[in-house]
Amino acid sequence: MSELLASLRAAIGEPNVLTDAIDTAPYLKDWRGRYQGEALCVVRPGTTDEAAKIVQLCAADDVAIVPQGGNTGLCGGATPCGTGEVLISLTRLNRVRAVDIDNNTITVEAGCTLHAVREAASVADRLFPLSIASEGTATIGGNLSTNAGGVQVLRYGNSRDLTLGIEAVLPNGQIWNGLRGLRKDNTGYDLKHLFIGAEGTLGLITCAVLKLFPLPRSHTTAWVAIESPAAAIALLASLRSDFGDRVTAFEIIDATALELVVRHIPGSRQPLPVIPQWQVLIELSEFSASDSDADVIKCLTHASGVQDAMLAQNETQRRALWRLREDISEAQRIEGLSIKHDVSVPVSRIDEFIHKARAELVKNFPGIRVVCFGHIGDGNLHYNLSMPSAIENVKLIERDGEVNRVVHDLVNELGGSISAEHGLGQLKRDEIKRYKSGIEIELMQCIKHALDPGGLMNPGKVL
Ligand SMILES: Cc1cc2nc3c(=O)[nH]c(=O)nc-3n(C[C@H](O)[C@H](O)[C@H](O)COP(=O)(O)OP(=O)(O)OC[C@H]3O[C@@H](n4cnc5c(N)ncnc54)[C@H](O)[C@@H]3O)c2cc1C
Repeated sequence: MSELLASLRAAIGEPNVLTDAIDTAPYLKDWRGRYQGEALCVVRPGTTDEAAKIVQLCAADDVAIVPQGGNTGLCGGATPCGTGEVLISLTRLNRVRAVDIDNNTITVEAGCTLHAVREAASVADRLFPLSIASEGTATIGGNLSTNAGGVQVLRYGNSRDLTLGIEAVLPNGQIWNGLRGLRKDNTGYDLKHLFIGAEGTLGLITCAVLKLFPLPRSHTTAWVAIESPAAAIALLASLRSDFGDRVTAFEIIDATALELVVRHIPGSRQPLPVIPQWQVLIELSEFSASDSDADVIKCLTHASGVQDAMLAQNETQRRALWRLREDISEAQRIEGLSIKHDVSVPVSRIDEFIHKARAELVKNFPGIRVVCFGHIGDGNLHYNLSMPSAIENVKLIERDGEVNRVVHDLVNELGGSISAEHGLGQLKRDEIKRYKSGIEIELMQCIKHALDPGGLMNPGKVL
């Protein structure tokens, strides 16, 4: 192994091969603190050629590789689960290679943070619409590898829908340049889609061509107390029929989630006098000088189930409303451990899921506390469970398998997915076998074997 370390140092420079525990520690623990790994070293290539050289050296020595971007993933996908792996951090690959305004595309390296890409697009008077609360740290490589979703999927789609081309380093160290900025290209299998959502198990994504959109001129942002999830879904339908694609976000938040934010995040204030059982954060994007505030108020006034509402009057208020939504994950982290689920069901079955899941959980785990929030507009809920008392919570966490069974079986019964946007990583690698058909698992294994016969790319994840 000392020979491999020496070759890696020669290939990318000594300072970019980290071996001291103090230097490698931040890379070896996941964001939630649930997984702690070990690695032979952490390497930080600065170019695609350097990344390819690292992979060639590792492949020659049969050493496994763990790719990592911003390390904000929530399934342990970027944390090594073996002992002698080389962790490749892509964060130095962080250049914006090109912005093509006429083609509405931006070409960015994998280590660019999502925030930096959104900023670069905005400077060019364009929107890159992927929007997630971790965007200051999460990278484009990580976003594509997890097929990240976020709050604007209902209008713009997820990372897969936003990607036109990629460049990748294959498990044998070859570079595949698929950086085509085409919206039409029917020339056989669309290979980029193999790498998107693969969580680093098929190769390293080093660069991508992403779609850009017109930059909205203004927003109408409303915080609405709503009687029930069913009423929220009916409201979404009427907003869409009145405003079409201008509806760009529609997030549901239950009372417990908001209470945690108000309790734990300094400066947070509930927007309405009383915290209702259910609320939705709605945003419409405007592309002309007109503003929809009056029309939105009219629509909310006529919708059934709307109990109260406030509209952001300026950008500061808009940001404050969004912060309440974005801070839910951090507030839960401060509150303590919980059993987390990132599930999706068809939008038409959301209400049924929420009612049936709560009834079944309360019956089996009396006193259980549900935190339910998420991107209801695209059928994705974050459904997190804990006990209010610390001692009871420890006992509940020990029974996470039983809790998962209730939630995931119901999701499956309703035609849903047990991982809507976070991926499988280590967390759901075994759980998924219960819900995917044998033929799907077999096809995935065939693809893995074809691209990575030595099983060196991110072992122990996904499959
Ligand atoms: C507060 C908070 C809010 C979040 N909100 C959302 C949300 O709304 N929607 C959502 O989808 N996710 C969300 N996430 C999860 C996370 O931010 C996303 O999964 C994100 O896309 C991960 O990016 P990353 O760069 O941090 O990837 P990492 O965590 O570093 O890696 C994630 C996976 O991708 C692989 N990988 C990383 N880079 C590469 C690469 N260049 N090539 C190949 N494989 C690679 C890793 O091996 C790992 O399997 C949230 C996380 C936090 C902490």
